[in-house]
Amino acid sequence: MDAARTLGRKGTSQQVNADHDAQLRLLDLQAVDTSLAQLAHRRRTLPELAALAEREQRAAALADEVIDAETRAGDLADQQRRLENEVDAVRARAVRDEQRMQNGGLPAKEIESLQHEVATLARRQASLEDELLEVMEQREEADSAVAQLTEQRGALDAERAELIATRDSAFAEIDSALEARSTERAALAGEAPSDLLALYERAREHGGGVGAAMLRQRRCEGCRIELSGSELTAVRTAAPDEVVRCDNCRRILIRTDESGL
Ligand SMILES: [Zn+2]
Repeated sequence: MDAARTLGRKGTSQQVNADHDAQLRLLDLQAVDTSLAQLAHRRRTLPELAALAEREQRAAALADEVIDAETRAGDLADQQRRLENEVDAVRARAVRDEQRMQNGGLPAKEIESLQHEVATLARRQASLEDELLEVMEQREEADSAVAQLTEQRGALDAERAELIATRDSAFAEIDSALEARSTERAALAGEAPSDLLALYERAREHGGGVGAAMLRQRRCEGCRIELSGSELTAVRTAAPDEVVRCDNCRRILIRTDESGL
């Protein structure tokens, strides 16, 4: 092994040698790793997650609206009760006054005073009853707003439950695929020579998840760049067990029958 090879191209890493079959199996490992990354991405970006987040936001806003509407309906119910009690009190007093006058035996001055009070009470009762009617109308509107918002909340809860069920079933499917792929990965990684595996992991870390790429039709499948004449010569003359890397992206280049060498 000459000095340049010991230092590796660009002097950044040690030259690694590995049986060509072991190099080919890196492509299987890469396929499994790519699949694992896709599954993880799918798990993170399920459309149900965004839909659920949006429903959560709406549910929080709706909960506030329900509280406001219930508070208003409650206040109006209190007002209605208060007015009804007042009407009852006014009416009772008028009845008592009438009774006293009917019983007779009262001085004329007192009768006059009672008549005056009965008239005042009648006006007061009419005014309270108008107010009561208005409050009852407002209360009816407030109650119907509460009912409408509660119905909306129920529909939203049902949507959320459905989304959660869809999400969970997607999670279960993805997780079982992840588990199967992880088992495959462990087996493939277990049979790979440790220095080759270490090189692959480093290249994968720097290569956005892709550490090994096929050389196909003189092109690196990792970065899609065609190798130059001198690069091709270097790859062509390299021994089969010599692990070669793309000068451009530094990924491990796997030579196959389709490499066009
Ligand atoms: Zn490349």
